[in-house]
Amino acid sequence: MRIDILTLFPEMCDTVLGESILGRAQKNGKVEFVTHQIRDYTADKHGRVDDAPYGGGMGMIMQPQPIFDCFQAVCAALGKRPRLIYLSPQGKTLTQQRVKELAQLDNLVLLCGHYEGVDERVLEELVDEEISIGDYVLTGGELPALVLCDAVARMLPGVLADEACFTEESHFSGLLEYAQYTRPPEWHGKKVPDVLLSGHHANIEAYRKEDALRRTREKRPELLHEEGETKHD
Ligand code: SAM
Repeated sequence: MRIDILTLFPEMCDTVLGESILGRAQKNGKVEFVTHQIRDYTADKHGRVDDAPYGGGMGMIMQPQPIFDCFQAVCAALGKRPRLIYLSPQGKTLTQQRVKELAQLDNLVLLCGHYEGVDERVLEELVDEEISIGDYVLTGGELPALVLCDAVARMLPGVLADEACFTEESHFSGLLEYAQYTRPPEWHGKKVPDVLLSGHHANIEAYRKEDALRRTREKRPELLHEEGETKHD
């Protein structure tokens, strides 16, 4: 899968995407991230990409032309018109279910707004979907784009050591993950549950299932719409 990011701060994205699991996944050819500097596409001879809002108000608005031309350049490079997502606090909140669906695509383009946002006309003309990472406002779309890249990339084959790394995790099946423990078996007087030290796989699986259900009921009861049933069931 290839994900292109249209941004005024490509270095901010490259730094994060080049580290740890995502950096390794890129080196191993499991995913490709390509960042594009929107400013490189402005027709303004002074390199401007934003201006004051019509009607007055605070801050600056990103102009449509550089964004439009930047996206056209990506389409030309790919030889097709990929799905364009605008990271926006006005979008639908990102869920693991949506992440799973997006991970099925070959290409994705992410548009990061900055300052007070983006001229509405270019959004109307280009954007297929708006995604928010939560009901709060950040200074720019770069961190939300990185959140999306991370969540999608880790679902791609070969990025994590094993599929079980994500299929058993919180939200994949609609439940929170069971509690996890490692050495030592006793710490600060707290013991690891005996069943996890028993080596009895069926019992361990049953215990974990029950623990996942209990934790979901306690921490996020809204994820269970009926006893034991998740929204994804
Ligand atoms: N004026 C806009 C509004 O009230 O809807 C907010 C603009 S925000 C300060 C600047 C940029 O940050 C947005 O264009 C968007 O790309 C990004 N952004 C901020 N909060 C976000 C969130 N919760 N989810 C996704 N993107 C967000």
